[in-house]
Amino acid sequence: MKIYNSLTDKIEEFKPIHEGKVSMYVCGPTVYNYVHIGNMRPVMTFDMVYKYFKYLGYNVMYASNFTDVNPKIIAAAKEMKLTEREVADKFIKAYLDDLQNYNCSEIDKRPRVINHMEDIFNFISKLIDKGYAYVNDGDVYFRISKIDDYGILSNQNKDELNSGARVDIDDKKENPLDFALWRKTVDGEQFDSPWGKGIPGWHTECVVMINSIFGDKIDIHGGGVDLKFPHHENEIAQSMALNNNHLANYWMHNGHINVDGEKMSKSLGNFILAKDFIKLHKPNVIKIALFKTHYRLPLNFTDELFNEANTINEKIYNALKQANVKINMENLKYNLMIKDSIFEEYMNDDFNTPNVISYLLELVKLLNNDVRNKGEMVLEYASKILVITDILGLKYDLVEFNDEDRDNYNKWLEYRNDKDFAQADVYRDKLIQKNIL
Ligand SMILES: [Zn+2]
Repeated sequence: MKIYNSLTDKIEEFKPIHEGKVSMYVCGPTVYNYVHIGNMRPVMTFDMVYKYFKYLGYNVMYASNFTDVNPKIIAAAKEMKLTEREVADKFIKAYLDDLQNYNCSEIDKRPRVINHMEDIFNFISKLIDKGYAYVNDGDVYFRISKIDDYGILSNQNKDELNSGARVDIDDKKENPLDFALWRKTVDGEQFDSPWGKGIPGWHTECVVMINSIFGDKIDIHGGGVDLKFPHHENEIAQSMALNNNHLANYWMHNGHINVDGEKMSKSLGNFILAKDFIKLHKPNVIKIALFKTHYRLPLNFTDELFNEANTINEKIYNALKQANVKINMENLKYNLMIKDSIFEEYMNDDFNTPNVISYLLELVKLLNNDVRNKGEMVLEYASKILVITDILGLKYDLVEFNDEDRDNYNKWLEYRNDKDFAQADVYRDKLIQKNIL
């Protein structure tokens, strides 16, 4: 199994920290509004990664957090005339609905910052004790100068970063690159800390949740490429300071989503909320469109792409329906432990899902042929398709049918073979009505 590691910029053989186990953390949403489709790319990508590791037989622990303590939530609460907790709860609920609707809700742990305040105090205190952080007027900052390889993830050195940094008038910092671990707040929600009232910094929240759930290091840390700097860089800096490691052995980043070649933004008016997008396209179609591009590359949403994805989805579904009639669906259910070496070859190559989609279409062709002929391979092909599509997060409901349905099916085939299309259509309509065809 080979993974592109953003930390080293190399394709590396995956070696878990503990034999047979995978620990994985993916940065979740800041819950101050509805998530857009760009936020769903890491969700769908790492859902696929998670399911594939499980297919390989790993015991996987997957955590994705809610950033529910944040200045953006304080601002939203003020605007919406709600408390910060009400805002967070509202958008956590909305996000959980999105996960459900996109068929991505298999996440083992969903930590919230609000439940880790004591852990955050302890974490920051240790950084201060070790000289990696300093207090100034109720704020606590991380001392970047103490980390030799700061910039390792985003391939920038401290001098470049310093010259590129906007001149910061914040004279509370020793160095413009230093970032806040704790920030004094006067307005809105605040927590009592050893340094006064305030809220924790985002970069600290994620590291603390990771350390609390998994210990000092995990196998895989994932997120969108836009989180590389400063968020993930600063997570690494804190982990280097306290645990002398880069927090995760493998850092995985997915690319942006563009719409018709343009970056999504509110000002361009092409900013699509996940909950609205699902009304335009079926989740299966969205995922096929997504996985036709490798996760690390930018993804361009166009009507053409969705038309194509829709056709692929229909082809897969129709083939499975035919297989379902040809053999008993109950048989399919017992064959879902089937392995496929071609599929594995593609997935083991840093999750090459574009190749997997092409391979699925080959399987569909083979299945369709076999359904029309001997039917000896129907069970195997259909099972492989079901196993692979399940890992990609695609769902195909196959109805159970009775003797009458099977009778109708056979009559449809008979009339069709006899070229009596009028009669064939009568039975075809009956089968379509029951979602068998
Ligand atoms: Zn994070």
